[in-house]
Amino acid sequence: MIIRKSQKDIEQMQRSGAVLAAAHDLLATKVAVGVTTRELDTIAEEFIREHGGVGTFKGYQGFPAVLCTSVNEKVVHGIPDDEPLAEGDLLSIDCGVTLRGWVSDSARSYVVGGTGGSEAQRLIDAAYDSLDAGIAACQPGARMGDVGHAVQAVAEAAGFHVIRKLVGHGVGRNMHEDPQVPNYGTAGQGIVLEPGYVIALEPMIAVGTIEIVEDEQDGWSIYSADGSLTAHVEHTIAITADGPLVLTASA
Ligand code: MG
Ligand code: MG
Repeated sequence: MIIRKSQKDIEQMQRSGAVLAAAHDLLATKVAVGVTTRELDTIAEEFIREHGGVGTFKGYQGFPAVLCTSVNEKVVHGIPDDEPLAEGDLLSIDCGVTLRGWVSDSARSYVVGGTGGSEAQRLIDAAYDSLDAGIAACQPGARMGDVGHAVQAVAEAAGFHVIRKLVGHGVGRNMHEDPQVPNYGTAGQGIVLEPGYVIALEPMIAVGTIEIVEDEQDGWSIYSADGSLTAHVEHTIAITADGPLVLTASA
Protein backbone atom coordinates (compact mmCIF):
# COMPACT_ATOMS: atom_id res chain seq x y z
CA MET A 1 0.00 0.00 0.00
CA ILE A 2 1.39 3.39 -0.97
CA ILE A 3 0.99 6.01 1.77
CA ARG A 4 0.24 9.34 0.19
CA LYS A 5 1.70 12.42 1.92
CA SER A 6 -0.13 15.71 2.40
CA GLN A 7 1.52 19.00 1.55
CA LYS A 8 2.17 19.48 5.26
CA ASP A 9 3.76 16.03 5.48
CA ILE A 10 5.99 16.88 2.53
CA GLU A 11 7.03 20.13 4.20
CA GLN A 12 8.04 18.12 7.28
CA MET A 13 9.97 15.68 5.13
CA GLN A 14 11.69 18.60 3.45
CA ARG A 15 12.93 19.76 6.87
CA SER A 16 14.34 16.28 7.47
CA GLY A 17 15.88 16.34 4.01
CA ALA A 18 17.47 19.73 4.63
CA VAL A 19 19.31 18.39 7.70
CA LEU A 20 20.43 15.38 5.68
CA ALA A 21 21.64 17.54 2.78
CA ALA A 22 23.58 19.75 5.18
CA ALA A 23 25.14 16.66 6.76
CA HIS A 24 26.21 15.47 3.31
CA ASP A 25 27.56 18.96 2.52
CA LEU A 26 29.66 18.79 5.68
CA LEU A 27 30.88 15.26 4.91
CA ALA A 28 31.88 16.39 1.42
CA THR A 29 34.41 18.73 3.02
CA LYS A 30 35.79 15.92 5.20
CA VAL A 31 36.32 13.14 2.64
CA ALA A 32 40.09 12.96 2.16
CA VAL A 33 43.05 10.61 1.96
CA GLY A 34 43.81 9.19 5.41
CA VAL A 35 40.39 9.89 6.91
CA THR A 36 38.51 6.84 8.17
CA THR A 37 34.87 6.10 7.53
CA ARG A 38 34.34 5.76 11.28
CA GLU A 39 35.50 9.39 11.66
CA LEU A 40 32.98 10.42 8.99
CA ASP A 41 30.27 8.50 10.83
CA THR A 42 31.02 10.33 14.08
CA ILE A 43 30.91 13.70 12.30
CA ALA A 44 27.55 12.86 10.72
CA GLU A 45 26.02 11.55 13.93
CA GLU A 46 26.98 14.66 15.89
CA PHE A 47 25.78 17.01 13.16
CA ILE A 48 22.41 15.30 12.85
CA ARG A 49 21.92 15.28 16.63
CA GLU A 50 22.85 18.99 16.87
CA HIS A 51 20.11 19.69 14.34
CA GLY A 52 17.43 17.83 16.27
CA GLY A 53 17.43 14.67 14.21
CA VAL A 54 18.42 11.04 14.58
CA GLY A 55 20.42 8.91 12.19
CA THR A 56 17.79 6.55 10.79
CA PHE A 57 20.14 3.71 9.94
CA LYS A 58 21.65 3.26 13.40
CA GLY A 59 19.86 0.36 15.04
CA TYR A 60 17.84 -0.40 11.91
CA GLN A 61 17.74 -4.20 11.97
CA GLY A 62 20.85 -3.90 14.14
CA PHE A 63 22.92 -1.74 11.77
CA PRO A 64 25.71 -0.21 13.92
CA ALA A 65 26.21 3.25 12.36
CA VAL A 66 24.46 6.35 10.98
CA LEU A 67 26.27 6.06 7.64
CA CYS A 68 26.65 3.27 5.17
CA THR A 69 30.14 3.74 3.71
CA SER A 70 30.80 1.59 0.67
CA VAL A 71 34.29 1.68 -0.86
CA ASN A 72 35.15 0.59 -4.41
CA GLU A 73 33.58 -2.82 -5.13
CA LYS A 74 31.20 -2.44 -2.21
CA VAL A 75 27.83 -1.41 -3.63
CA VAL A 76 25.88 -0.50 -0.49
CA HIS A 77 25.53 -1.18 3.26
CA GLY A 78 29.23 -0.94 4.09
CA ILE A 79 29.90 -0.50 7.81
CA PRO A 80 32.16 2.43 8.80
CA ASP A 81 35.56 1.21 10.01
CA ASP A 82 39.10 2.31 10.89
CA GLU A 83 40.67 1.76 7.46
CA PRO A 84 42.08 5.08 6.17
CA LEU A 85 40.70 6.13 2.80
CA ALA A 86 43.26 5.99 -0.01
CA GLU A 87 43.86 8.20 -3.03
CA GLY A 88 41.48 7.22 -5.81
CA ASP A 89 39.08 5.17 -3.68
CA LEU A 90 35.45 5.38 -4.79
CA LEU A 91 33.49 6.12 -1.61
CA SER A 92 29.69 6.02 -1.53
CA ILE A 93 28.10 7.53 1.58
CA ASP A 94 24.45 6.73 2.28
CA CYS A 95 22.63 8.38 5.18
CA GLY A 96 19.12 8.65 6.56
CA VAL A 97 17.73 11.28 8.93
CA THR A 98 14.62 11.03 11.07
CA LEU A 99 13.33 14.46 12.14
CA ARG A 100 10.06 14.78 14.05
CA GLY A 101 9.18 11.31 12.88
CA TRP A 102 9.83 11.89 9.18
CA VAL A 103 12.59 10.06 7.31
CA SER A 104 14.76 11.30 4.46
CA ASP A 105 17.30 9.15 2.63
CA SER A 106 20.16 10.26 0.37
CA ALA A 107 23.52 9.03 -0.90
CA ARG A 108 26.51 10.65 -2.57
CA SER A 109 29.65 9.20 -4.15
CA TYR A 110 33.19 10.57 -4.24
CA VAL A 111 36.62 9.82 -5.62
CA VAL A 112 38.89 10.23 -2.60
CA GLY A 113 41.54 12.82 -3.38
CA GLY A 114 39.44 14.03 -6.30
CA THR A 115 41.07 12.07 -9.10
CA GLY A 116 39.41 13.71 -12.07
CA GLY A 117 39.33 11.81 -15.35
CA SER A 118 39.50 8.40 -13.70
CA GLU A 119 37.07 5.60 -14.44
CA ALA A 120 35.72 5.98 -10.91
CA GLN A 121 34.87 9.61 -11.62
CA ARG A 122 33.22 8.70 -14.94
CA LEU A 123 31.13 6.10 -13.15
CA ILE A 124 30.08 8.60 -10.48
CA ASP A 125 29.24 11.24 -13.10
CA ALA A 126 27.06 8.70 -14.92
CA ALA A 127 25.34 7.78 -11.65
CA TYR A 128 24.44 11.42 -10.96
CA ASP A 129 23.36 11.94 -14.58
CA SER A 130 21.13 8.87 -14.36
CA LEU A 131 19.66 10.12 -11.07
CA ASP A 132 18.93 13.51 -12.65
CA ALA A 133 17.22 11.81 -15.59
CA GLY A 134 15.16 9.68 -13.23
CA ILE A 135 14.14 12.72 -11.19
CA ALA A 136 13.04 14.53 -14.35
CA ALA A 137 10.78 11.55 -15.10
CA CYS A 138 9.08 11.78 -11.68
CA GLN A 139 6.10 13.69 -13.07
CA PRO A 140 2.54 13.30 -11.84
CA GLY A 141 0.79 10.91 -14.21
CA ALA A 142 4.05 9.34 -15.38
CA ARG A 143 4.65 5.67 -14.74
CA MET A 144 7.29 4.00 -12.60
CA GLY A 145 8.70 2.37 -15.73
CA ASP A 146 9.39 5.83 -17.14
CA VAL A 147 11.62 6.56 -14.14
CA GLY A 148 13.55 3.30 -14.30
CA HIS A 149 13.89 3.56 -18.05
CA ALA A 150 15.33 7.07 -17.76
CA VAL A 151 17.92 5.95 -15.19
CA GLN A 152 18.88 2.86 -17.16
CA ALA A 153 19.16 4.66 -20.51
CA VAL A 154 21.63 7.22 -19.17
CA ALA A 155 23.74 4.69 -17.25
CA GLU A 156 23.96 2.32 -20.20
CA ALA A 157 24.65 5.09 -22.73
CA ALA A 158 27.71 5.92 -20.60
CA GLY A 159 28.85 2.30 -20.93
CA PHE A 160 27.89 1.15 -17.44
CA HIS A 161 25.40 -1.34 -16.01
CA VAL A 162 22.46 -1.04 -13.65
CA ILE A 163 22.36 -3.34 -10.62
CA ARG A 164 18.86 -4.79 -10.53
CA LYS A 165 18.65 -6.81 -7.36
CA LEU A 166 18.64 -3.64 -5.25
CA VAL A 167 16.00 -0.97 -5.81
CA GLY A 168 14.74 2.30 -4.37
CA HIS A 169 11.62 2.60 -2.27
CA GLY A 170 8.84 4.73 -0.93
CA VAL A 171 9.77 6.74 2.16
CA GLY A 172 7.81 8.60 4.82
CA ARG A 173 7.39 7.86 8.50
CA ASN A 174 9.27 4.66 7.70
CA MET A 175 12.49 4.36 5.72
CA HIS A 176 11.15 1.59 3.53
CA GLU A 177 7.60 1.91 2.25
CA ASP A 178 5.86 0.89 -0.95
CA PRO A 179 6.38 1.17 -3.85
CA GLN A 180 9.62 -0.38 -5.05
CA VAL A 181 11.56 1.97 -7.32
CA PRO A 182 13.70 0.00 -9.82
CA ASN A 183 16.59 1.61 -11.69
CA TYR A 184 15.53 -0.11 -14.91
CA GLY A 185 12.28 -0.49 -16.71
CA THR A 186 10.10 0.00 -19.73
CA ALA A 187 8.62 3.40 -20.45
CA GLY A 188 4.85 3.46 -20.12
CA GLN A 189 4.71 0.49 -17.74
CA GLY A 190 4.24 0.21 -13.99
CA ILE A 191 2.18 2.15 -11.48
CA VAL A 192 1.09 5.71 -12.14
CA LEU A 193 2.94 8.31 -10.05
CA GLU A 194 0.46 10.45 -8.15
CA PRO A 195 0.93 13.70 -6.26
CA GLY A 196 1.73 12.89 -2.64
CA TYR A 197 3.96 9.92 -3.39
CA VAL A 198 7.45 10.27 -1.92
CA ILE A 199 10.17 7.97 -3.19
CA ALA A 200 13.87 7.37 -2.68
CA LEU A 201 15.43 6.96 -6.12
CA GLU A 202 18.87 5.40 -5.83
CA PRO A 203 20.80 4.29 -8.90
CA MET A 204 23.47 1.69 -8.19
CA ILE A 205 25.64 1.26 -11.24
CA ALA A 206 28.62 -0.90 -12.03
CA VAL A 207 31.60 -0.94 -14.36
CA GLY A 208 31.34 -4.71 -14.69
CA THR A 209 28.83 -7.36 -13.72
CA ILE A 210 25.46 -6.47 -12.23
CA GLU A 211 25.61 -9.59 -10.06
CA ILE A 212 26.11 -8.92 -6.37
CA VAL A 213 27.26 -10.93 -3.36
CA GLU A 214 26.61 -10.39 0.33
CA ASP A 215 29.36 -10.35 2.91
CA GLU A 216 28.68 -13.36 5.13
CA GLN A 217 31.08 -12.15 7.81
CA ASP A 218 29.71 -8.71 8.57
CA GLY A 219 26.18 -9.60 7.48
CA TRP A 220 25.67 -6.24 5.73
CA SER A 221 28.13 -5.30 2.99
CA ILE A 222 27.09 -6.01 -0.57
CA TYR A 223 29.79 -6.29 -3.25
CA SER A 224 29.89 -6.56 -7.01
CA ALA A 225 30.40 -10.26 -7.74
CA ASP A 226 33.42 -9.59 -9.97
CA GLY A 227 35.04 -7.03 -7.66
CA SER A 228 34.59 -4.19 -10.14
CA LEU A 229 33.80 -0.60 -9.16
CA THR A 230 30.27 0.46 -8.28
CA ALA A 231 28.70 3.82 -7.44
CA HIS A 232 25.52 4.70 -5.55
CA VAL A 233 23.70 8.04 -5.40
CA GLU A 234 20.24 8.81 -4.04
CA HIS A 235 17.69 11.51 -3.43
CA THR A 236 14.32 11.56 -1.67
CA ILE A 237 11.76 13.01 -4.10
CA ALA A 238 8.16 14.10 -3.66
CA ILE A 239 5.80 13.85 -6.61
CA THR A 240 3.77 17.06 -6.64
CA ALA A 241 1.17 18.49 -8.98
CA ASP A 242 3.91 20.81 -10.23
CA GLY A 243 6.43 18.02 -10.83
CA PRO A 244 9.25 16.42 -8.83
CA LEU A 245 10.43 18.13 -5.64
CA VAL A 246 13.84 16.92 -4.41
CA LEU A 247 13.60 16.92 -0.62
CA THR A 248 17.29 16.15 -0.02
CA ALA A 249 18.79 18.85 -2.24
CA SER A 250 21.43 21.18 -0.79
CA ALA A 251 20.22 24.69 0.10
MG1 MG B 1 19.91 5.48 1.26
MG1 MG C 1 17.24 4.26 0.13
